[in-house]
Amino acid sequence: MANTILVTGGAGYIGSHACLELLQAGYQVVVVDNLANSKLESLKRVQEITGKSLAFYQVDIRDHDALADVFAKESINAVIHFAGLKAVGESCEQPQMYYHNNVYGTLVLTQVMAESNVKQLVFSSSATVYGAAEQVQYTEDLPIGAINPYGRTKAMVEDILRDLSASDSLKPSQSPWKIAVLRYFNPIGAHESGRIGEDPNGIPNNLMPYVTQVAIGKLAQLSVFGDDYPTPDGTGIRDYIHVVDLVKGHIKAIEALQSEKFADGGCKAYNLGAGKGCSVLEIINTFEKVTGRKVNYKMAPRRAGDLAEYFADPALALRELNWKVEKNLEDMAADTWNWQVNNPQGYN
Ligand code: NAD
Ligand code: UDP
Repeated sequence: MANTILVTGGAGYIGSHACLELLQAGYQVVVVDNLANSKLESLKRVQEITGKSLAFYQVDIRDHDALADVFAKESINAVIHFAGLKAVGESCEQPQMYYHNNVYGTLVLTQVMAESNVKQLVFSSSATVYGAAEQVQYTEDLPIGAINPYGRTKAMVEDILRDLSASDSLKPSQSPWKIAVLRYFNPIGAHESGRIGEDPNGIPNNLMPYVTQVAIGKLAQLSVFGDDYPTPDGTGIRDYIHVVDLVKGHIKAIEALQSEKFADGGCKAYNLGAGKGCSVLEIINTFEKVTGRKVNYKMAPRRAGDLAEYFADPALALRELNWKVEKNLEDMAADTWNWQVNNPQGYN
């Protein structure tokens, strides 16, 4: 029988890679996206690469009736929920927009899911929910302490999902919620075909797209934000994860939700990261080695709100989802570059 996954935000960077892997793994895919930060071209290419088709609805997840129509038309088994706004700086400038989109949007989605009795959900959370912790390797049991509006939308949605799952015990006659909250570390890279990838609007905020745009000559110089951190080379350390590894974690999560492990329902958070940190200078050096291009950079002051160092403890995801990363930093650099060179203007 068909196993149909609704992917919200499926036209976006991570969502499009998820659609590709889902189709290749034999799932039926239905995408809901309002195209606020993406182009339909990504899904056209996903279908070309896989030779399989998916259903697309240009719908805003905050539109209850339009979303309910999608659930009425398609027989959906589970939802992977990527739709959301994700720029930290913008979230500080326009917090209402972020809470409305990310928090209210998820309330509407879960409402429609409940009405349709679809109760398997994988949610895109983020390592930013941890805020500053004493240890640099984050385990899932650390307290939540997001430090900006974007991070707080993720933390709030996590709370809502845990409350929803807890409410099952008061309604034992109903089928329980089965929810996996996936806390991503730093996703980079692109599909090895070079046909889909990250297509940021305007000047990128994140390190990897900035590095590639400097290497290809679209931007003049990278600023390395801080060289006086208490790290071996003084630059900030993060846990970079290849986007294809990341989306495979979502398929593992769906498998777990549909297995005996979640027979009684529940809401559980998992870190998705490589489990090791990498500095800004290591990223630049690896990128230069793999691509043979120079990255023009200068040292600059620390960026407000940045932590010196953190990375994932991904042991729980290995134990319970049977997932771990398979790709290394060289793969991430090569695949990002392949996407950049083949699509200098992104999807335009
Ligand atoms: P993206 O912007 O490329 O994709 C998000 C997609 O959601 C876009 O296609 C956008 O058009 C769509 N969307 C936004 N609001 C919508 C709405 N109200 N209704 C319907 N569609 C809507 O971002 P991404 O990098 O692919 O991120 C996907 C998810 O993962 C987001 O929830 C993001 O917060 C989370 N996340 C991303 C990162 C990262 O570094 N990229 C890290 C941690 C978590
Ligand atoms: N960074 C940098 N220059 C840039 C963008 C980012 O030095 O133009 C650094 C940043 O300070 C952090 C790391 O690169 O140490 C990753 O930043 P990014 O914005 O990609 O992700 P974050 O971890 O902040 O979510």
